[in-house]
This record gives sequence, C-alpha cells and structure tokens, in this order.
Amino acid sequence: MKNNAIKVSVALFLFFSLWGPGAFAQNTGEAIDAHLVAARNAAGFDFTGTLARLCVAPQAVPSTLRDVAPGPPPARDTWFIEPAKVFDNLYFVGSKIHNSWALTSSEGIILLDTLFTYNSEEEIVGGLKKLGLDPAKVKYVIISHAHADHVGGAKLMQDRYGSRIVMGGPDWDSIEKSVNGYPGGKPKRDIVADDGQKITLGDTAVTIIATPGHTPGTLSMIFTVKDNGKPLTVAYSGGTAFNFPSTTANFDIYIKSQSKMAAAAASANATVLMSNHSEFDSATTKIRMLASRKPGEPHPFEIGKEALERYFIVTGECAQAARLKLTHPPT
Ligand SMILES: [Zn+2]
Repeated sequence: MKNNAIKVSVALFLFFSLWGPGAFAQNTGEAIDAHLVAARNAAGFDFTGTLARLCVAPQAVPSTLRDVAPGPPPARDTWFIEPAKVFDNLYFVGSKIHNSWALTSSEGIILLDTLFTYNSEEEIVGGLKKLGLDPAKVKYVIISHAHADHVGGAKLMQDRYGSRIVMGGPDWDSIEKSVNGYPGGKPKRDIVADDGQKITLGDTAVTIIATPGHTPGTLSMIFTVKDNGKPLTVAYSGGTAFNFPSTTANFDIYIKSQSKMAAAAASANATVLMSNHSEFDSATTKIRMLASRKPGEPHPFEIGKEALERYFIVTGECAQAARLKLTHPPT
C-alpha cells in the first residue's frame, strides 16, 4: 500500500513537472510564437499595417459590445482627402483612413462602403461630383459591415438617391436593435445579402462572399476592374480587426472566413487586394504612387496571386495567435 502511494506520488510529480501546467503553458507559448512568426513571414514588407494591427496590437474586447452614440466629428484635416480615379471603372471617394469605392458600369454606379455620417456628404457625394460622376446614378450601395465608419452614409444614399442598400442579415439586425448608434436615423432594411449572391448592374457584377467574424454579417467581395482596358480581379476584404467579443468561438468563425476568402480569391484568380481601411490595403499610399506611375509600370494595387494568398495567411495566423492567448495569456 505504502509502495503504491509512493508510486502514485512519483507519477503525479513527474506528470506535473514534465506535462503539467508549466510545460503546457510553454508549449502553448511556442504555438503562439509559431503563429506570430508565420504571420510575420507572410506579411513581409507588403502588409505591415495589417500585421501591426492584428499581431502586434490586437485588442481584448468584452463579451458584450456597448451600443454607444457616436462622438463629435473630428477636425476635417484629420480625415479629408481628395477623391481619385484608380482604375478605368473604379474611383476612390474615401477619407485618409477609411475607403469608399465607386465601381462604374454601363447602367450606373455600385458604391462599396460609405464612411461615417459626418464625412460621407463631402467625401462621397462631393467626391463623385468632383470626379464627374453623378451620385444620383448610385444604384447599389454594398456595406461590408454595420460599423459607424462604413455604414455612416447609407441612410443619405437611400433617402436622397434611392440607392438600394445591400448588407448581411445579422448586420441589418444590429442596426435595428441599436438604441444609441444612429442619432440621425437609420437606413431602412433593404437587400439582405446571401453568400455567393451577385449584385449585377449593366456590364458589371460584384460577387458577395459572406465572411462573418469581424461582425456576424460581414461581407467580402470579388469583382473585376480594368487597368487601361486590362481586366483584373479584386478581392475586397470586408472586415479585418479583432474588435468583436474576444471568445474562442468568435475567433474560430473569423479564422474560417479568412480561409474561405483566400480560397475565393484564388479560384477567381484575384491579383488586387482592396479593403475598407487604408491601414490594411495602403490605399492612400498607392493612390499617391499611381499619380507618378510611368507607362509600362504595374498598377500599384496589382500585387499578384501569391501576395494575396499571403495576406490571408497574415489575418488567419494573427487570429490563431490571439485565439490561443485567450486561454493561455502570456505570463
Ligand atoms: Zn468594423
């Protein structure tokens, strides 16, 4: 009996010293590091903004999101930037930080994302006019997700121009449930996007890829632009940061969506990455580069299939690291 007790004690001692919490934490720490290294290697010098936001400084978010009223608008010089033509049929009408894109077709315009309420009038309506485009021709507005920095101009476009608003079902729900988020009024529920749905306007179509994670209804997109007549396929990533409630289940959803979008981009032969934040797709820098592009030089947004594949490795690997940190925070 005594011998058995000693044997059990020795076994327990060995278990805890070799395989106990300390060793487990060490192994998890190594696993987190492996994901961070994989993300850093995939990012290279191409996706430093995405790497910094997701791998270096991810935020922890409480289990329930607060429904807060928007603060006062920041000073104009913190956000205002001139609009620009980026491809034959794609125009930038965004701000210094947030992107809004106008995709033109034979039958009108499809607008992708709408900035904040405070700057959508000047950047989008004003920007389209400066570029010689008629805001009344915006037939569809596709909202990647219902956060204030992307859905802010949806009500304006719906009310003033009768644009049809396309959004993921759960994000329409979150707008309807919000008590404080829309003091100036909410866009009315319109088109509920389905995974794989095509929003077609004249000779142009945008294919919706449902990529829940950033919000439950986040939409990403695949569409074609033309660079001096040459067609290029764009993968538009609709939600990137981890500012959803920090749970393992939410990270699992996010990670699955990154793989799904990577596969959709690859099968569509996408070579252009776009997003709704300059932080992630370097839109404002690339637009400046475009202004000094010489004949024969590649378009700054055309990064190629291999780089696109690496982009979604960055988002997926950073999410894997953040997911592991939830259950095994660094000591
Ligand atoms: Zn967001």
